[in-house]
Amino acid sequence: MRPRREVRQGDAARLTRVKHGANLAQLSSLCYGIKVRSLLAVLILALAAGSVTAAGWPQPAIEQGDSRDIEVLFTFDDGPSPLLTAKLLDTLKEHHVQAIFFLVGNMAQSKDKRTAPVLERMKAEGHVIANHTQNHLDECRAPLEKAAADIDNGKATIERVTGWPLAWIRIPFGARCAQVDQLLADRGLWHFHWDLDPQEWQHHSADKAFTYVTGQLARARGRVVLLMHDIQPATIGALPRILTWIDEENARRATSKKKQIKILQAPAYAAEKLPNGLGGWLREAGEGIQSLPDLVARVLP
Ligand SMILES: [Zn+2]
Repeated sequence: MRPRREVRQGDAARLTRVKHGANLAQLSSLCYGIKVRSLLAVLILALAAGSVTAAGWPQPAIEQGDSRDIEVLFTFDDGPSPLLTAKLLDTLKEHHVQAIFFLVGNMAQSKDKRTAPVLERMKAEGHVIANHTQNHLDECRAPLEKAAADIDNGKATIERVTGWPLAWIRIPFGARCAQVDQLLADRGLWHFHWDLDPQEWQHHSADKAFTYVTGQLARARGRVVLLMHDIQPATIGALPRILTWIDEENARRATSKKKQIKILQAPAYAAEKLPNGLGGWLREAGEGIQSLPDLVARVLP
């Protein structure tokens, strides 16, 4: 259930990793067998791009807004959890935040009686539901047919239990390889990556997650996608503190010329992705953005 930094490395990705925390031994072992000139060329490319993540997905994860505002989009993976996701929904409601939930099919079809009401709340409270596959496989290591089925079954299961068509997918672990690229292309999909990853699934510390996220948001310059996990107690503990910090930080910024940190509401971002006419119509309709109608969700790119 846990994301890890999946590295399907080409030279650029390896060098990006090296750039972020390497020692001389790593660098020299990397240099071994590579002509210095071509190494330099790759290094220059990697630095110039500056946007290649360890997993090879572009960052920032989504297009920047026209306004160039500082905005954070909340996304939660691996749920739903009957108990923890419900608590998370309470926090989001209290702070008027609408998020994207990347659900796992076998979690969504849980026999636990508390699961269906959680899914109902997600829809009723204006969140966007998306696919995180049926069984959360590493789609780069799974045989092609198994990986394809994991993606397709996840979508089918979540659509069946929620009654909503899904447009977006996040590949487990953010794993990227030629197989995943092909599977996505065949389906006209793109992987919804992230910018901020507090790794709370690994250290289980709400404190660490809070410190990382607020530290990053304090420095953010544009739009950022935050990845957390609604099945992790550390997420449930950190989220109210993060949202309160944003309010307090904005109050501090109001007294200076610093830009506010805004929440990018998931349905508003979805509306941006719609074909021009439809997006404009939705924005005018106002209410339509609050809860995405089925018809609209169907045409999401
Ligand atoms: Zn996941």
